[in-house]
Amino acid sequence: MHKAIVLGTGPAGLTAAIYLARANLEPLVIEGPEPGGQLTTTTEVENFPGFPEGIMGPELMENMRKQAERFGAIFRRGWVKKVELTERPFTLFLGEEKIQTESLILSTGATAKLLGIPGERENIGLGVSTCATCDGFFFRGKKIIVVGGGDSAMEEANFLTRFASEVHIVHRREELRASKIMQDRARENEKITWGLNKTPLEVVRNENGVTGLKVKNNETGQEELIETEGIFVAIGHKPNTEFLDGQIKLDELGYIDVKAGTTETNIPGVFACGDVQDHVYRQAITAAGTGCMAALDCERFLEGNAVHDWSKSL
Ligand code: NAP
Repeated sequence: MHKAIVLGTGPAGLTAAIYLARANLEPLVIEGPEPGGQLTTTTEVENFPGFPEGIMGPELMENMRKQAERFGAIFRRGWVKKVELTERPFTLFLGEEKIQTESLILSTGATAKLLGIPGERENIGLGVSTCATCDGFFFRGKKIIVVGGGDSAMEEANFLTRFASEVHIVHRREELRASKIMQDRARENEKITWGLNKTPLEVVRNENGVTGLKVKNNETGQEELIETEGIFVAIGHKPNTEFLDGQIKLDELGYIDVKAGTTETNIPGVFACGDVQDHVYRQAITAAGTGCMAALDCERFLEGNAVHDWSKSL
């Protein structure tokens, strides 16, 4: 039996763990298949306050983990495949093992969708990115490709024109999925050029890094190489919620629905923070902020709602 379990170890989960540990709640923190979350797949993080020279994403996450451990957070690796949240204590199935907890913080994050083409995954951080806010700065004065036709792609493309000499949007259809206002904004931007009706086939690179994106022109059926040093894949994100199996209320986009201004889910004692409940900001610092909120919400909840007599366990 645990007082609090944190599921997921991105900036949200680790910040929650630091706060819970400092409140003597000895949180159990469960690390999934990608410990440290999305920041471990980026290179340098230049916008996390407190690091004037920047810090490498994996190092930042390792520091947060050590900070949580220093105050007594316990870490376990594993894959939670199922949870039972209908009654407290809640039950988590970690592999074959059953673990019980009085409260639960969900910080399982979201995964940027990838195209699944050759050269893509292995070049993330080396010319391929899924986050314009994080990596746009590295492509100053260069030509950038943004893949996608939705609001994310339009937003990222517009943002990237601050740095790039040209932003070329590659989309697999003639029609864009993005809202009219976002399309108009992109069309009015002189730095944005269009590669519509083109399906990405392969990320091409040489020994120095990415050099282009091979696409199929769907009108002619011909393959083309579009030269670029930076490819931003902006085809959406998927919040990691499958294991909840419908027990937690989600919003219309599939993100965990939290009560406005809090991290409370529809189940008392279950809290959500970070990208699994945020499709708007998606930043390490906002994730950390909501992680702090979740820990404080959780602490207050436990003060008035303990089901286990912890004094007998001392
Ligand atoms: P989205 O609306 O689902 O659009 C994804 C885009 O990527 C689509 O154009 C899709 O092409 C393309 N795509 C998907 N899989 C692909 C693949 N395998 N290969 C090539 N292209 C692929 O996702 P989103 O743009 O991230 O937006 C998600 C939600 O957030 C939307 O509701 C959006 O309105 C909202 N959002 C709002 C704002 C804002 O208002 N500021 C900003 C960002 C996001 P097809 O069109 O051919 O399917």
